[in-house]
Amino acid sequence: MLLDTLKSIVGPKGWSTDPDLLKLHLREWRDQYLGSTPLLVFPSSTEQVSEVVKACRAAGNALVVQGGNTGLCGGAIPRVDGDEILLSMSRMNRIRSVSASDFSMVAEAGCILETLQRTAADAGRYFPLSLAAEGSCQIGGNLSTNAGGINVLKFGTARDQVLGLEVVLADGTIWNGLRTLRKDTAGYDLKHLFVGSEGTLGVITAAALKLYPPIRNLHTAIVAFDDASFAVELLASLRDTQGDQVYAFELIPEIAMRFVLQHIPGCRSPFAELHRWYVLLEASGSLEGLESTLMNCLDAGQISDAVIAKSDQERSDLWRIRHSISEAQKFEGRSLKHDVSVPIGSIAEFLERTVATIESEFPEVRIVAFGHVGDGNLHFNISEPKKRDQASFLAVADSLTSIVYDSVASFGGSISAEHGIGLFKKEMLAKYRSPIELQLMRTVKQALDPENLLNPGKVI
Ligand SMILES: Cc1cc2nc3c(=O)[nH]c(=O)nc-3n(C[C@H](O)[C@H](O)[C@H](O)COP(=O)(O)OP(=O)(O)OC[C@H]3O[C@@H](n4cnc5c(N)ncnc54)[C@H](O)[C@@H]3O)c2cc1C
Repeated sequence: MLLDTLKSIVGPKGWSTDPDLLKLHLREWRDQYLGSTPLLVFPSSTEQVSEVVKACRAAGNALVVQGGNTGLCGGAIPRVDGDEILLSMSRMNRIRSVSASDFSMVAEAGCILETLQRTAADAGRYFPLSLAAEGSCQIGGNLSTNAGGINVLKFGTARDQVLGLEVVLADGTIWNGLRTLRKDTAGYDLKHLFVGSEGTLGVITAAALKLYPPIRNLHTAIVAFDDASFAVELLASLRDTQGDQVYAFELIPEIAMRFVLQHIPGCRSPFAELHRWYVLLEASGSLEGLESTLMNCLDAGQISDAVIAKSDQERSDLWRIRHSISEAQKFEGRSLKHDVSVPIGSIAEFLERTVATIESEFPEVRIVAFGHVGDGNLHFNISEPKKRDQASFLAVADSLTSIVYDSVASFGGSISAEHGIGLFKKEMLAKYRSPIELQLMRTVKQALDPENLLNPGKVI
């Protein structure tokens, strides 16, 4: 009965039970979660989303919202033993308006991130959210996970790009909060409840987004050095010389560079030899300023080498190295992923202490700690030992993860910097957030989704 109602709401092009298509939607990017669903629906308007949610509610049937399915915590996959309807936002992909003079754009939730970046550029504007999955992830998914990516240092996370939202609530009501105001202190800022809520509080159907002037004179460089603690010093020096124009600052360890060069065809080392650490950075403003900062560091023996990209091709070759790390790591067997953050000033100490503890207790594992160090965010991944022995690696996985998260907690950090909680970190959230924070989260969930119909069992 419910399935027939849903089919009639979305029309013949708006649903599927085709096993081949379903397979693509029921498997998470890392293959860690497999799900099942009696029906996949693709509504094409906010009204259809609202009707779908109302019908599910009337039948007491839960649903899971899915964007581009690039999330890394299992949040977009329905439970394997459940009967949740899977609601894909991919047909809600219209850009409703772009205003160059207002520096804003209103886009439906199913718009692919890369499309939004291009649309902004076509209007002579810049949309800064950028991540390796940008060709597949959707703005609704980015907002629901409060995605980070490579430009957080300058522009903030997805949360910072949103001016207003349109949301279908758990009872099917449509809340139109698509204001493009820069200042608005009229009561609670409701849009921020939905940002980062991973589909558990409402279905985001459209967003009003901030645009920026185009970036001019962007310089991309890769710098090699021996001591991880220098990365944070270099960032501070660059911010001194380039002002607030440092856009990206990504740490890459030697092991990640080796994995990429070995496994990803077409990637070349920027230097004649390998180095212990690299930073891939982007900054605008004076090229002379950047060159002289790097030259001073070379003269002082703080860095071993540096290359500034001279063309778009060289720039994209450098970024390809950074963006290929996760893919390259897959060739090295199983790995444990820890997307964590600590205060920027504690990064070096955090790395030193955590690596030392792991190396003393589990000397065979391979630590691949890389990422958005300018935001205090590291992907502290641990690959299985070279001499593969998956069973014994998995047997110590929980102990390794506890070392990382306990260390993060001791620095006042977060066990999830940008990927969210989903199913993957649900137990960890309960362990590392205070009882009062967890209780507040439950109160919000209870208020907005009292019947627990939206993405049940995820986050809290
Ligand atoms: C190669 C690769 C690199 C990545 N790099 C980064 C990175 O640098 N930074 C980063 O932050 N993330 C990164 N990610 C993770 C992922 O791309 C982001 O979490 C992204 O924001 C997810 O968007 P999505 O559209 O794929 O969402 P999905 O995976 O489909 O969904 C994610 C969550 O959001 C919910 N959701 C989706 N759409 C909606 C909606 N319209 N309304 C309500 N809830 C919704 C889902 O229920 C789920 O809980 C990366 C992933 C990959 C595969």
